[in-house]
Amino acid sequence: MSGGMAAPWRATVLTLYPQMFPGPLGLSLAGEALTRGTWALDLKNIRDHGLGRHRAVDDTPAGGGPGMVLRCDVLAAALDAAVLADDPRPKLLMSPRGQPLTQARVRAFAAGSGVVVVCGRFEGVDERVIEARRLMEVSVGDYVLSGGEIPAMTLLDACVRLLPGVMGQNASGAEESFEGGLLEYPHYTRPREWEGRTIPEVLLSGDHAAIRAWRRAEAERLTRERRLDLMANYPRWSGDGE
Ligand code: SAH
Repeated sequence: MSGGMAAPWRATVLTLYPQMFPGPLGLSLAGEALTRGTWALDLKNIRDHGLGRHRAVDDTPAGGGPGMVLRCDVLAAALDAAVLADDPRPKLLMSPRGQPLTQARVRAFAAGSGVVVVCGRFEGVDERVIEARRLMEVSVGDYVLSGGEIPAMTLLDACVRLLPGVMGQNASGAEESFEGGLLEYPHYTRPREWEGRTIPEVLLSGDHAAIRAWRRAEAERLTRERRLDLMANYPRWSGDGE
């Protein structure tokens, strides 16, 4: 008995809005993979560990200022109930202060047994629980959203599409943007001519070596034009050869 019975890649999400999930992750590639059991989604409502009759989860910031802060004791109780001490999965906190989410980090998360993701709300989370539970802060970009749920979905979508069998024919994603340190080359499909615009001749030539060279050159051109910062990590550009 081998194949098909492996333990699924498991995402445990701690949130004040579990009803937001699976949301878009329940459709298309990610949704089909969820139904097949390629990955599993455990939702934990932080509110279940709230305090008192009103199940309070937040309080005013020490030192004053606007907004509310998610309490460390409440979040720690939610984490401790959701994750066993020997769970090997990384514990992530979605946070605009975090390490940028990159394709390299996505690959590393997807290669493991899953992730535990905490979705912040309000002004953020009491710093002490980040330290005490060794949460890794991860950002989806240099802008501020109102909660960590959409960032968590972004991270999970990026991971799930890399799990074995999820993407079908494009099994490795090896030619996509960022995978080779470059943005992806342009795509074309039928019709052959549209509003006077044609498909680059080389793509219709059947010459696979020429097509590969054209795509590489286009990927380099686009990356140089749009994201010179990525070029710094690209071997051919920095002169290290291939
Ligand atoms: N006051 C905070 C922002 C709080 S936004 C600050 O200035 O850093 C509320 C929650 O939304 C955060 O706790 C985090 O979980 C989530 N969030 C907002 N923007 C995010 C981003 N760019 N990446 C990841 N999570 C984000």
